Amino acid sequence: MQCPACGSELIRVVDSRRWIAGSSGMVRRRRWCMACGAEWVTWEEWDGRVPRRSARALDRADHQGE
Ligand SMILES: [Zn+2]
Repeated sequence: MQCPACGSELIRVVDSRRWIAGSSGMVRRRRWCMACGAEWVTWEEWDGRVPRRSARALDRADHQGE
C-alpha cells in the first residue's frame, strides 16, 4: 500500500471497521500518510471466513491489492 498522493509507504491505519452483510462483509479502513498528511479510505472485501487469525488474514488481503 502506498500513498495515492505522494507514493510514500509510511502509511498508518487510523480506523478499521468491519461491515457485515449476511455471510460476508467489507472492511473499511481509514489511512493516513505520515509523509504528506493525505487521508483516504479503502474498502476491502471479506469472504466471511476469517475469525481465528483475523488480524493476519486481513493484513494478507491488504497486500494482494499491490
Ligand atoms: Zn503521502
